Amino acid sequence: MHTSHTTLKYKKDITKEILESIQHAQFPVAITGAGTSKASGLPLLGDMIDGVPLSQFFDGSIFRADKERFYDSYRKVLRLFLQATPNPAHLALAERETFVITQNIDGLHRIAGSERVLEIHGNIRELRCINCGLVESSMRALRYPVPRCPDCHEVLHPGITLEGEEVRHISRATDWAGRADLMLIVGTQLFAHPVSKLPEATRAGTPIFEINENAEVLLPVLLQQEHS
Ligand SMILES: [Zn+2]
Repeated sequence: MHTSHTTLKYKKDITKEILESIQHAQFPVAITGAGTSKASGLPLLGDMIDGVPLSQFFDGSIFRADKERFYDSYRKVLRLFLQATPNPAHLALAERETFVITQNIDGLHRIAGSERVLEIHGNIRELRCINCGLVESSMRALRYPVPRCPDCHEVLHPGITLEGEEVRHISRATDWAGRADLMLIVGTQLFAHPVSKLPEATRAGTPIFEINENAEVLLPVLLQQEHS
């Protein structure tokens, strides 16, 4: 375990010393997960879509077995995600120009204005062609029952990594962790490999703060630029 690992739960946990160390960080990195987007009204993994829990929809079995059925459900899932908007946690990370490594597929960090974002599980607002690499807006799935690549006509893959598929950008994420002088772990328990290894990639002494709940309340306080 990293020596300067601190868990923050309440506003009162945020001391003046913590605020100062955060304010002076030159290379702040945040690893974010589902808890970061909780206040944005997204569907949860246990929620049912067409009688199937959302988690099963992401496990890839439906996509592999039946593209038409997959995209029927995908349209419903996508419409739910398209209604979600960034909450104060996303906005605070964007304003502080934090480097963001996210496990979320909702695209809300980019919409909030974060420019340096690694979406390691992809983005549900995109579709990808496995054959030629083309990236399309997911709107194409709203126009066609089974969206195909406009270039090579291959059936498009959702812009997210389904279970069993390789996560993306992990070498750059590891590079960012190694350069970080502050790491925030927000709304995630980091159970999943390989993100679970990222805190270990930080240099010795790098302060690590874990915020599991109330990110939308704590991050705006933690990342404020000016302190009174
Ligand atoms: Zn293609």
